[in-house]
Amino acid sequence: MDRDRNKKTLMELLKMNGNRECADCSAPDPDWASFTTGVFICLNCSGIHRNLPSVSRVKSVRLDFWDDDLVEFMRENGNPKAKSIYEAKVPPFYYKPRAEDCLVLREQWIRAKYEREEFTMNASQHDGGVTGNREGVLWKRGRDNGQYHKRRFILSEKDGTLKYYTKDEEIVSWFNSIRAARLYYLRKEFPNTSEAELIPRITRKYLKEGYMEKTGPKHKESFRKRWFSLDLYERKLLYFKDPVDAFEQGEVFIGSSDHGYEVLDNIPSGVRGNKWKYGITIVTPERKFVFACENEREHKEWIDAFKEVIARPMSPQDYTAEAAVQRKR
Ligand SMILES: [Zn+2]
Repeated sequence: MDRDRNKKTLMELLKMNGNRECADCSAPDPDWASFTTGVFICLNCSGIHRNLPSVSRVKSVRLDFWDDDLVEFMRENGNPKAKSIYEAKVPPFYYKPRAEDCLVLREQWIRAKYEREEFTMNASQHDGGVTGNREGVLWKRGRDNGQYHKRRFILSEKDGTLKYYTKDEEIVSWFNSIRAARLYYLRKEFPNTSEAELIPRITRKYLKEGYMEKTGPKHKESFRKRWFSLDLYERKLLYFKDPVDAFEQGEVFIGSSDHGYEVLDNIPSGVRGNKWKYGITIVTPERKFVFACENEREHKEWIDAFKEVIARPMSPQDYTAEAAVQRKR
């Protein structure tokens, strides 16, 4: 039967390089497909595509019926080819969401790719500085309740269009603008470092976050509960009074083992006052930092995270950062 043959063809296409990951979020083993854009996608992304019927129509590879011509279209296209079309000009700072990222990021990425076609070869650049383009905030009357909302509008002479940003587009656009600004700063700060190395440093990557208790440098000070974030790329343990605080109270630089840094799964004998029982000591060339975790699981996760940072060799930038943190103290 054609139906069986078509299903078999699709299953074979799914095994090919590039089709084994969702075209939009890189989740493994996608089993949905958009038969208008020619991509294989995961169930979650298929839900987003379903909301864009003017550009994308989706089917389940396993459950739906597939016509010959649609199967042929999927064979001619597929994820690598679609990527070369829809992601031809993604700026280096632009954040490509992954499966675990929030819905707003994933949805805006999919809309930017297929609906607004922002990254195709002939996409117009949204750089407000070009003559004939004007960008500004206007009040737009909402369709449903007649209330006015502030919206960012872009007038493009080239396209002859007036477009406005929805709230989610605005958020993601700000997010990527901040990434662009940070990449610009990093390029100036580290002119000899390759872009591939700078990109991961654009946004902080916290290996582990959570509460621990800490004491002071003399280990006699009372233990206080603080919120900690361990940054892998910056090699810094930041601590905050409260998780939502914008600025940290302090930071600890975490170097590498061959530079005298070490993590111990206990606290020095004689240190007292911790309410939480699961101790950690970070040994640095200068001093020991003493922490306590609430339970065994937290304790293990923190120790694994510290070990991961300590195992990473230090780069020249890390030596500069280490010296800066030591000067601050
Ligand atoms: Zn996906």
